[in-house]
Amino acid sequence: MKKIVVLGLLILSQVGFAQEEKSGSLQRPKLVVGIVVDQMRQEYFYRYQDRFVENGFKRLLKSGFVMENGHYNYIPTYTGPGHASVYSGTTPATHGIIGNNWYVRSLGRSIYCAEDSTVTGVAGTASSGEISPRNLLSSTITDELMFATGKRSKVVGIAIKDRGAALPAGHMGDAYWYDAKTGEFMTSTYYYGALPDWAKAFNDRKLPQKYLSQTWEPLFPVETYVQGAADDNVFESPFIGMETPTFPYDLPALTEDNGGLGLISTTPFGNTLTLDLAYAALEGEQLGKRGETDFLAMSFSSTDYIGHRFGPSSVEVEDNYLRLDRELAEFFDYLDREIGEGEYLVFLTADHGVADVVSYMQSERVAAGSLDTRFVLTQLKGFTNQQFGEGDWISNYSNEQVFLNRELAKEKGLVLADMQKEVADFLLRFDGIKETYTAEDLKRLEYNHGRKHLLQMGFNHKASGDVLVILEPAWLTNSVRGTTHGTGYTYDTHVPIVFYGWGVPAGSSSRYATITDIAPTLAMLLKTRLPNGASGQPIGEIVDSK
Ligand SMILES: [Zn+2]
Repeated sequence: MKKIVVLGLLILSQVGFAQEEKSGSLQRPKLVVGIVVDQMRQEYFYRYQDRFVENGFKRLLKSGFVMENGHYNYIPTYTGPGHASVYSGTTPATHGIIGNNWYVRSLGRSIYCAEDSTVTGVAGTASSGEISPRNLLSSTITDELMFATGKRSKVVGIAIKDRGAALPAGHMGDAYWYDAKTGEFMTSTYYYGALPDWAKAFNDRKLPQKYLSQTWEPLFPVETYVQGAADDNVFESPFIGMETPTFPYDLPALTEDNGGLGLISTTPFGNTLTLDLAYAALEGEQLGKRGETDFLAMSFSSTDYIGHRFGPSSVEVEDNYLRLDRELAEFFDYLDREIGEGEYLVFLTADHGVADVVSYMQSERVAAGSLDTRFVLTQLKGFTNQQFGEGDWISNYSNEQVFLNRELAKEKGLVLADMQKEVADFLLRFDGIKETYTAEDLKRLEYNHGRKHLLQMGFNHKASGDVLVILEPAWLTNSVRGTTHGTGYTYDTHVPIVFYGWGVPAGSSSRYATITDIAPTLAMLLKTRLPNGASGQPIGEIVDSK
């Protein structure tokens, strides 16, 4: 009996020891790599897969965990709100980035999501450096990692677009973006007084000038691109100086009339340049090699610029993804060598999807249209003058929101809620406008599903407009050639959500998930607090496998 008790105690103590060992030292990956591919639809994984290499996107699909039905869960689906939502785990209603730009009643003008007039440029040009994350009202997963490690982690945000770098890096990380005027990567005095030496050395290489001395040829013969429309068509928007939107693109000939050094944004070489900087940052900051978990937040902006100009059924978009795939394969191989396979954690998503070109859809007899907002606003002005008396009643129309002149309404003793309702009802008479909602209703009611739920998740009580408009599916505003995004329809909301590497099982799920689940998933994997406004949930399929 005594022996059994002793044996029992021995076993118990060994179990206890083993558990202590398991939980005794906190396990975290050496490096987290966040990848946002600007404007990437989920379907691109499959549409272009035949010509992907083995170790790029396919590595994520085969060895990572794929949420196949991952969506944006708010309106409007733009770049600023997208990056803010991925990294904060919540929606514009809470984090406050309600558009790329939005009208501010108290200022009587629109502001830019990452603007900050209290700071200035470091490298690049001063005006391109009035950038910081100060308009972001909630913490990010990158902030929380900094708090969790006593700020010993390093967080580096990189993108061509300033908002694609500054919002992911959070309030405590560093951010670098491209200055189209000088061709330099720059930062602002929010972050640094001077550029780090490795970034200076990077700029000295003058890579944008080198890339823009090339011709953009397709990787494969142009006639083998059969996933969309033919290269020459009337749906795409040619570069200035070209008659057709067709390969090859002689970049030296196009540079002067198409944004100078900014032209690189609308070529695949903008992504190449972003990766070049990522390599330099990894080496310069020794990310993932310092005994603390570091975070590299990259955003590939060129996919968006090319997508806007040519649309999702273009040869240009396909070629860009084939090139990005090859460059990501090299990048993952580099991380395997430098950080170690299984030692780093990757997630890949997008900041929004994109609509098809309106005229392309119409050519295929799919319902689609373009709303002439000038016409609508002229009619609306006439209506408001008639209803409320002569006056400048419409202060602003942007992001599919009408801002009424509230001061004038107060002066004339009109009830704002009634005015909102009248305007909302009036707007429904136009073809292409499907639904309208008043700010009063969005404040008072709680919408749990459907597109009005998405609208509410993007609605900020203090900052949003008075009447919010939802267009019919496949409708855009003032669209001639090329395309855009911003709606709550699946073409804009359905994006990749993939995790790969440290602690991530291989697999996939078609369960509905949202991009606000990404930051909570990271918080569970990294054992940090949840970002302070987080409303998404950890993806159980990923975190519970550990
Ligand atoms: Zn865009």
